[in-house]
Amino acid sequence: MKKSPEFSLIQQYFHALTANREDVIVGIGDDCAVLNNPQDFYTAISIDTLVQGIHFFADVDPYRLGIKALAVNLSDLAAMGAEPAWFTLALTLPEINDEWLKQFSAGLADIAQQHRIQLVGGDTTRGPLTITIQVHGHLAKDNILQRNAAQTTDLICVTGCLGDAAAGLQYKLGQLDTAPLTDTDIEYLLQRLEMPTPRNQIGQQLVSKAHAAIDVSDGLLADLNHILHASNKGAKLNLSSLPFSPVLQKLPLKLATQLALTGGDDYELCFTAPAENVAKLKQQFPKMIRVIGEITQDKGMYFQNAQGEWQAFSKIKAGYDHFA
Ligand SMILES: [Mg+2]
Repeated sequence: MKKSPEFSLIQQYFHALTANREDVIVGIGDDCAVLNNPQDFYTAISIDTLVQGIHFFADVDPYRLGIKALAVNLSDLAAMGAEPAWFTLALTLPEINDEWLKQFSAGLADIAQQHRIQLVGGDTTRGPLTITIQVHGHLAKDNILQRNAAQTTDLICVTGCLGDAAAGLQYKLGQLDTAPLTDTDIEYLLQRLEMPTPRNQIGQQLVSKAHAAIDVSDGLLADLNHILHASNKGAKLNLSSLPFSPVLQKLPLKLATQLALTGGDDYELCFTAPAENVAKLKQQFPKMIRVIGEITQDKGMYFQNAQGEWQAFSKIKAGYDHFA
């Protein structure tokens, strides 16, 4: 089949908008990109698809959508400690909307430049709005950060704040009681939902200091559970240590806790590391790292309740299920 006339769209809207890296030998415009892999580095690759109506609302701001489409991929590189390098873009569009494309590409360009990642290829097709991005990152060969190496007595940490994006989603769905919130608060929650901030800088530092890491895309409990399962360990979590933003603190504590544990879309990092390394990371990234628990040999997941007693996850899980 012949290529549609939209074939040149990628070149037209995205060509000049990304970082200009020296390791791109041939970029957009030929049949393939040609890339120079640095010596002593592996290539880390990840791909994510966002579909309208499933991963984002039809009315979302296209500039923000451009940011999110790359941010969720950058977050996967962050979780592996890889340095962002290149990405490709496959765009399925219902129509050629010049204004939409300009704004979407502007968002994409802004976050790409911020992370020094260059668009090296792409394709467009006609159909329901769908955005697929594949990212490539450099990973030093001597130290690969995975999910499967958490050690007993490691501290469990998270970056940033949890639950904001989920609160933003509840707002969009008309399910959030906004009485305690100002318009500025709501805009903050929506920004956290629509423009997540991948933690690549921290991720790259984790390579030498953490044992295991993952990015929080599906909710802290689900994602931490991936680490525990892969590492064959358990965890004790201190719920009173969960990092809440000032806005989330205005919501009822129980709701904030539910959102933080099961909400998802945070794109923060959850990692496990020895206490002395956590202390170093806290110095390097002030106020960005919060210890929320400890890795245990016993494979269960336990929470400390308000009375200081340890409860098995399964016993209180029912209370959180409707958010999963
Ligand atoms: Mg991930």
